[in-house]
Amino acid sequence: MKDLSISARYIKGVGPSKLRLLNRLGIETIEDLLYCFPRRYEDRSKIKKIGELRCGNLETMKVKVLTFGERRTRKGMSIFQLAVGDSTGVIHATWFNQPYMKDRFKTGQGLILYGRVERRRTCLQVNNPEYEILTGTKEDSVHMGRIVPIYPLTESLNQRWFRNVMKFVVDNYAGSIVDMLPYGIRVRNDLMLLKGAIRNIHFPVSEIVLKKARRRLIFDEFLLLQVGIALKRARVKIDLNGCSHDTGGSLIESFKKTLPFKFTNSQLKVIREIEQDMKSSKPMNRLLQGDVGSGKTVVALYALILAVQGRYQAALMVPTEILAEQHYRNITGLVQDMGVKTVLLSGDLKTEERARRMHMIERGAVDLIIGTHALIQEGVHFKRLGLAVVDEQHKFGVMQRASLKSKSTNPDILLMTATPIPRTLALTVYGDLDVSIIDELPPGRGDIKTLYFEEKNRRKAYLIMAEQVKIGRQAYVVYPIIEDSERSNLRAATKMHRELVNMFPDLRIGLLHGRMKSKEKERIMRDFKEKNIDILVSTVVVEVGLDIPNASTMVIEHADRFGLSQLHQLRGRVGRGRFTSYCILVGDPKSDDARRRLNVMLKTQDGFEIAEEDLEIRGPGEFFGTRQHGLPGLKIGNIVRDRGIMELARTEAFELVKKDRFLCAPENRFIRGTVKKKFSMKDLELSAVG
Ligand code: ADP
Ligand code: MG
Repeated sequence: MKDLSISARYIKGVGPSKLRLLNRLGIETIEDLLYCFPRRYEDRSKIKKIGELRCGNLETMKVKVLTFGERRTRKGMSIFQLAVGDSTGVIHATWFNQPYMKDRFKTGQGLILYGRVERRRTCLQVNNPEYEILTGTKEDSVHMGRIVPIYPLTESLNQRWFRNVMKFVVDNYAGSIVDMLPYGIRVRNDLMLLKGAIRNIHFPVSEIVLKKARRRLIFDEFLLLQVGIALKRARVKIDLNGCSHDTGGSLIESFKKTLPFKFTNSQLKVIREIEQDMKSSKPMNRLLQGDVGSGKTVVALYALILAVQGRYQAALMVPTEILAEQHYRNITGLVQDMGVKTVLLSGDLKTEERARRMHMIERGAVDLIIGTHALIQEGVHFKRLGLAVVDEQHKFGVMQRASLKSKSTNPDILLMTATPIPRTLALTVYGDLDVSIIDELPPGRGDIKTLYFEEKNRRKAYLIMAEQVKIGRQAYVVYPIIEDSERSNLRAATKMHRELVNMFPDLRIGLLHGRMKSKEKERIMRDFKEKNIDILVSTVVVEVGLDIPNASTMVIEHADRFGLSQLHQLRGRVGRGRFTSYCILVGDPKSDDARRRLNVMLKTQDGFEIAEEDLEIRGPGEFFGTRQHGLPGLKIGNIVRDRGIMELARTEAFELVKKDRFLCAPENRFIRGTVKKKFSMKDLELSAVG
C-alpha cells in the first residue's frame, strides 16, 4: 500500500513552480489529485476516417501529415496550416498566432486530431484542433482514442500536462485507495468499488462505467454529509433540555372554539407533530413547509397558545412591519377575550414606547410577542420564552434565527416557509430540523387564473382589474421599484400611482412602499383591509404573508424582473376568497431565464413544483444563499439533480449512526476518520472516543 498523503511534488514532472500552481488549486497531496475530478469529458473514442466526418461536429481522426506552411494576414496575424490525410480524403488543420507550431511537425508523421470540423469552400477544415503526435509509445492513449477528461484548471496549467500527471497518479496510486464503505452498504446500493470509481472518473473506459463511477463518488459524498447530520441530530437529542408543554387545557380548548373554520387534515397532522415535540422536554426544532395560503398562521397560533397556556411567553417573528402589524391585529382579535396579553415590537417605535414594551416583555407582563427582527435586537429580554416561531423564515439569515433562540434557554423553535422543497432536500439543507408539511389548501377557495400580457398590451390587464373592482373586488398592482431613476426605464410605483389615478378617476387608489413611515403603511393597509381602497399600487412590500381575501386581482408589472418564488408569493396574495381571481403578469422578458420563469408561472400553481423549477434555474447555491445553509462544499454531487442518491445515502447514514452512535465499530472506522477530516464539524463530538 502506498501512502496517498504524501506531497504531490514526489510525482515525476512536478517541480517547485508546478507545485505552486497545483497548491493554488487546493492540491497538496496525491490524494488531493485523485479527488480533483474532471469538469467535463470529450468523447474522442470514436476515430473516424476523413470520408466519414460530419461538418459542425466535434470529431477525432487519425491522419498523416502531407505538407505544412505558415503565412501572415494583412493585419499581421500568423496562420499555420497543416494538410493531413488518410486513404479517404484530405483536411486542413489551422492554428492562429501559434508560430512555434511549425517546428512540431514532420511530413509523413502520424497524428490524431480532435476538433470541430468545418467546410471552407471546397475544403474540409479544423481550427485549433487538439493533436497527438503518434510515436508508438503508450502515452498516445492518454489524450486520444478515449473519453478524455477536461479538468477545472487555471490558465497557467495546461490540460495536456495535467492529464499526463493524472494518468501517472491513477496508474500508480489508485490501487492504494482504501474503500471506506462497509460491504453491506456497498452491496445494498449496488455501488462499484472505490478504486474502480476513481480510475474511471478520470479515465473512463465507457460512458456506462463513467456513470457508475459518478454514482459511487456522489454516494460517498452524500453519505458523509448525512452521517454528519445524523450525528448532529443524535447529539441534540441527548444533550439539551428544553421546556415541556402541556397540550391539553382550557385555554387551547377555548381557542379551538373561537376558530371560524375546521382545520384541514394536513393542518391537523402537523398540529399533532408539533404537539409531540412540545410535550417532550427536548427542544423542538421544526420546519413547517406549506404553500402560500395553506393556513400556516393558524397552526403557529395553536402552538403559541399551547406555550402561553403553560405560563410561558411565546414570540412570533416576521420579516416585514406590514406583516407584523397584520398578525398582531388578527391574533389580538382572536385571543384578547381569552385573557392572553399581546404586544407588538417593530422597528420604528419611539424610543420611549419601545422601552416601555421591552420592559413589559422582561417583566413577563405580556404573553404573546409579535414583531419584526426588532425582536432579536440587543436589549430585548424575555422573562421565560417557551416558544419562538419564525414566519417566512427564508427571509431571515441563519444568524438571525439563531439569535432568537439564544434569547432564552432552549426554547422550542418553529420555522415556517412558503418556499417548500422536497422533504429529503429540506432535511439535508436544514440539517438539524424536523420537517412538517401542509400539503392541501383549505376548502372553498376560488381558482386563480394566471395571464400574461406583453408591455404593449398593458391596458388589457388594467381593464380586467377595473372590471373586478366594479363587481366589488380589490386589486394589487406591483412594481419592481419605488421611484423613477434616470438610469432605468422601469415603471415606478409612485409615478404609476399618479397615472392610474388619472386613468380611473372614480376608483380609490392607494400607494404603499417600503420607504413610507410605519404609521402611514399601517393606515394604508387598514384602509385596504376595510375596503376603503380599491386598488393598491405597491412595491414588493406586499410580497409575503398579507391576507386580504377580497382582493382578487394581482397585476405584476415588469414581471420578468422578479424571481420565481417572489412571483409565486405575489400570486399568493389573491385566490384567498371564494371567487375566481386573476394574476396578471406584464412584461417583455429579455433573457431565457426570465422567459422560463414566466412559463413556469403559467404552467403551475404548485409551490413545490415552482420551488423545484426555481432550484433548477438558479442552482442550489443561489437558491438557498450560500450562507443560508451549512452544507460543506460538494465536489461532485448536486443536491437537486442527484436527490435520488441523496435519499439512499440518508437512509444508510441514519441507520449507521443509530446502530453505532460514536462510529467505533471497525467497519465504520474509515467513515469516522473521513467525516472528521472532510467536514471540520467540531461539534460532532466524535472526540469523546478518541
Ligand atoms: P399562509 O400559509 O400563506 O401563511 P394563512 O395562514 O395566511 O396562509 O392562511 C390563509 C387564509 O386561510 C387565512 O385567511 C386563514 O384564515 C384561512 N384559513 C386557514 N386555515 C383554514 C381552514 N382550515 N379552513 C378555512 N380557512 C382557513
Ligand atoms: Mg403566512
